[in-house]
Amino acid sequence: MTKKNKLKWKRSLMVMTAITGLGFSTFYPGLSIPTAAVEQPDQPLPAEESVSIVQLEVPNDQAKDKLLELGIDLTHRIEQHDGIYEVDAVVTPTEIAMLKTFGINVKDTLITENEWNTRAAERQSAVQLQASLAASEDTLKVLRADHFTNQSATFLYLEVKSSAGATASTALKATWTEDGVEKSATLSRFVDYGEYIYHYLMVPVTAIPTSVKIDSNLGGTATSSVTEWLGKEPKHPKTDYVTDFVDHYMAPNELYERAEKLAKEFPKLVEIIDMPNKTNGYRRLAQATIGGTTNLAVVVSSKAWGHEGGNDVSVEFQNPGKNNSPLKVTVDGKKILVDLATDSSGKVTSTAAQVVSALNTNASQLVTATTYRGNAGTGVVAPITAKLTDGLKAPADVSRDPFTVKAIRIGKHRDGSKPGVLGYAQEHAREWVTPLVTIETAERLLRNYAHDSETRKLVDNLDIFLVPSVNPDGANYSFNDYNMQRRNMTNHCGPTASDPGNRNAWGVDLNRNHSVGSLFDGYIGASASCTSDTYAGPAENSEPEARNLVWLADKNPNIKFAMNIHSYGGYFMWSPGAYDSKRVTLPRPTAGQEAFYWAASDLMLNDIQDHRGTVILPSRTGPIPDVLYSAAGNSADYLWYEKGIYAWNFEVGADLWNKDTKRWQAVGFQPAFAEGHEEAMEFSNGLIGLIKVAYNSSKDHQPPSSKATPGNGKYTGPVEVKIETSEPATVYYTLDGSRPTFQSKKIQLSGTREFEETLKIDKTTTINYFAVDAAGNIEKNYNPLGNGKNYNSVTLTIK
Ligand SMILES: [Zn+2]
Repeated sequence: MTKKNKLKWKRSLMVMTAITGLGFSTFYPGLSIPTAAVEQPDQPLPAEESVSIVQLEVPNDQAKDKLLELGIDLTHRIEQHDGIYEVDAVVTPTEIAMLKTFGINVKDTLITENEWNTRAAERQSAVQLQASLAASEDTLKVLRADHFTNQSATFLYLEVKSSAGATASTALKATWTEDGVEKSATLSRFVDYGEYIYHYLMVPVTAIPTSVKIDSNLGGTATSSVTEWLGKEPKHPKTDYVTDFVDHYMAPNELYERAEKLAKEFPKLVEIIDMPNKTNGYRRLAQATIGGTTNLAVVVSSKAWGHEGGNDVSVEFQNPGKNNSPLKVTVDGKKILVDLATDSSGKVTSTAAQVVSALNTNASQLVTATTYRGNAGTGVVAPITAKLTDGLKAPADVSRDPFTVKAIRIGKHRDGSKPGVLGYAQEHAREWVTPLVTIETAERLLRNYAHDSETRKLVDNLDIFLVPSVNPDGANYSFNDYNMQRRNMTNHCGPTASDPGNRNAWGVDLNRNHSVGSLFDGYIGASASCTSDTYAGPAENSEPEARNLVWLADKNPNIKFAMNIHSYGGYFMWSPGAYDSKRVTLPRPTAGQEAFYWAASDLMLNDIQDHRGTVILPSRTGPIPDVLYSAAGNSADYLWYEKGIYAWNFEVGADLWNKDTKRWQAVGFQPAFAEGHEEAMEFSNGLIGLIKVAYNSSKDHQPPSSKATPGNGKYTGPVEVKIETSEPATVYYTLDGSRPTFQSKKIQLSGTREFEETLKIDKTTTINYFAVDAAGNIEKNYNPLGNGKNYNSVTLTIK
């Protein structure tokens, strides 16, 4: 910050001196004036004070006029309600003290000088960054140049990273040729939580360009050939492979009935696992907010759940019809009668707070009572009758009891000896398509088993776990009461937010309640508010639904792959899933693990495409923070970091391309079933794709090989060494001549969405290294825990 700026922020008490000149004591002769405000001009200048922008509460017109008269530095914002003014002003502490003497109070500090300075400094560093980046030509890295064709059109998709991309003034233009016609377009800059990720472009094309040229306004340039995303021929469906076993959205009861039926029909291949942590249940206390939503309202909640008697409770406030009558509560069965107090003229005098207290004392066997949202309850209540209700609309055959969440376990050998795959759906209640993906998958695995050798191979060699609905209570609520319900049904709000007006705002986000990278660890993308849709809960793993998933992974350490199925948007993502307030993510997978995630994703995305041509966009494929946002405490991060499970997140329901408007259209959480059905079919393809990935991995006994380039030799000056592997594999290495182990450094990605890093060698160094693939095979069967020397080694002599 410049000195000049700083000076602008200091205001001396000379202002006060000017005020006295206006002579406000003639207007308010009785007021005592703070001494600071009556400094005489001939006295030394007082010390400078910090200023803040504050919101003042000005009680009346007189005080407002006084403000203007005093020359207080007001901003443009003045708002009036009920005769009280809210005014934003720039003031010093001394001014604040003086304002108080006029009955003017500081309501809120909007920004302090320190905060303002911080913002000015931020701005200054951005200006400097821009100047330094714009000073020289940038270099461009083409991360992706893809074409793809979906059911509607052919698209060109580019991701390009500029070395000067951190400043918004850097603009990139792409140029390519379609059928001999030159086309060009400007790329969009993608920034997430303050971090520049890359520039990108996605446009429909009439012909596939062979190459594309990128030019930066800073002079950088790059060209790249254009390759096909998911470029495999669609498979011709086998005529005897049966699919399509869902014909409507299914509620939890139906899902689990179907699962039980399958277990009965295929007892040798299926069992149902009852998870140990029962949910809260699709149930509520019976409640009423009696007398509106003001300070005369009384909120009454039953002690018993609605279906266990709470719904039978009624409360009547009545005028006893005589003078000087005391407040009295009588309980008769499920009826609570409140005789309100009256004065000598027979007028009712009981306030809401008094009625609340009387109910809590005399009807505590049936109900608890509070004032409305924490207000003082000073209003006098009116005679009225109210019946309490849990408000639940589901028919009686939807059980109100705690729900046992179940998993369908499919496999010929279900004893833990085979590698496990887990697909789990509906953490978020409103995502109605997601359970269908698991049911469709279970049906396909079982009904094709007898005649399809591919399917038999999967079922015979794997241990497959499918959880159709992690959140059955929320699902029942979404089907019957509030279709946008995302969370479970557990209300963790205290008395000030537990009135029935908030009934759609309670519950815990089960994909924010886990223990890795959580809100409680300081990560972003979850809320501490019990009424927020991303509420993380009162503590990690507070919810039975989240603990069930932890239990399943603990109990079955053979699980190596997992899919967390959500909707919508057509995303395909993996860890890290969260970053902190400085946008530092959870540890990135190694370069080898990342390569495996991409390769496995390619197989699954091709399978998804096979159904109706849906292309999961390259811009929606990758680690969560690179393509979506931070999601603190999500379950897939738990599985990856704590359990070492390769864990993906699907968002089913890819946008549909509208040929008329030439725009992508979102499908929503609950599309018409015709669309929901298609989504279930294509993502069941994807889930079976994951099961194939698990099978391939289980049959992979081939160790990877790796090679450093350049290798042994004498070099002048620093050398960049790249270690390449024969398949996706993590490379462990040392640079000090020691034996490499699992504790050694690993080759990482060089940056977000970039390729593997190179090692900069600037003095004579021996690199010892070995590679491990996703199936755990170690290069040359080297044992990092033993004493053998059969690792790779190169020595680069630098002159
Ligand atoms: Zn979701």
